[in-house]
Amino acid sequence: MTEFAIEIENLRKTYRAGRGGAEKVALKGIDLKIPAGSIFGLLGPNGAGKSTLINILAGLVIKTSGKVRIWGFDQDVNPRQSRAAIGVMPQELNLDPFFSPRGALEVQAGLYGVPKAQRRSDEILEMVGLSDKADAYARTLSGGMRRRLLLAKALVHFPQILVLDEPTAGVDIEIRQMLWANVRKLNRERGMTIILTTHYLEEAEEMCDEIAIINQGELVVQDTTSALLGRMDAKTLVIHPESTVPDPIEMPKGVEIERRADGALALSYRRGETSANAILDAVRKAGIVIRDVRTEEPDLQDVFLDLTRG
Ligand code: ADP
Ligand code: MG
Repeated sequence: MTEFAIEIENLRKTYRAGRGGAEKVALKGIDLKIPAGSIFGLLGPNGAGKSTLINILAGLVIKTSGKVRIWGFDQDVNPRQSRAAIGVMPQELNLDPFFSPRGALEVQAGLYGVPKAQRRSDEILEMVGLSDKADAYARTLSGGMRRRLLLAKALVHFPQILVLDEPTAGVDIEIRQMLWANVRKLNRERGMTIILTTHYLEEAEEMCDEIAIINQGELVVQDTTSALLGRMDAKTLVIHPESTVPDPIEMPKGVEIERRADGALALSYRRGETSANAILDAVRKAGIVIRDVRTEEPDLQDVFLDLTRG
């Protein structure tokens, strides 16, 4: 087993301009290493470049430059092996309406060159809970069943890595839970590396061991989910002092002091560690006269800003 399921170095993608249009730089030099065996979340607002990155991994979009290694195989040197290591569940429900689930899996297995004797269509249909619909036409399947089938299709060649692009965008709770149950099972029981994109932070928080945030084609942060949430737990008291501020200032343990250009003193702390009261006490003790005080609550946007600033 390789240490990293995916290794990306300086990945760039510029979409060619359409007629009369401008070029679009979708990825601006991404470096990313995704640990093997993890459930990894790729987060970012719409247009950040998530699908572009996923589609490059899947071999559906050609990168402009950079290195991509999938399960240790360089995409340019070993295209066949790197493609075999990854299965992608796309965002769109593009299924051929004339195939049954079993038929669709057989076609997909053929595309991936899985020999007939090694195909496990029934086993995979069972896993995603579609056994009783194995021979029904895809057009008779509900939205949830189509999602199951897309997941099944991504699994026909037994990839080490499963990628889900916005799997829960616009789906109801039941399908969402089915998907997450399957994903957890594949990860726990088969050690499959799972990579999912989403713009729902709560979802990533619940599912992912590690998270990368991309914004406007750039990697903003990559960290374990718990460390990232630790940052989210941070709160800031912004104090505008009446008087000059001594240096250094005695503060409770864990409080970060930032002197802002407008003369404000920004005191960041973790809610679980310190209280606003304790900080205000320390401020007064330091002889600082407070003219104005307000709090800044972090959200995902703040995390973006905080991390891009420095
Ligand atoms: P995300 O999946 O994070 O929403 P995308 O990777 O789909 O982001 O898109 C990143 C940027 O690239 C967006 O500005 C989008 O408009 C642009 N883009 C995506 N696909 C194409 C394409 N085929 N041609 C031109 N621009 C594209
Ligand atoms: Mg997308």
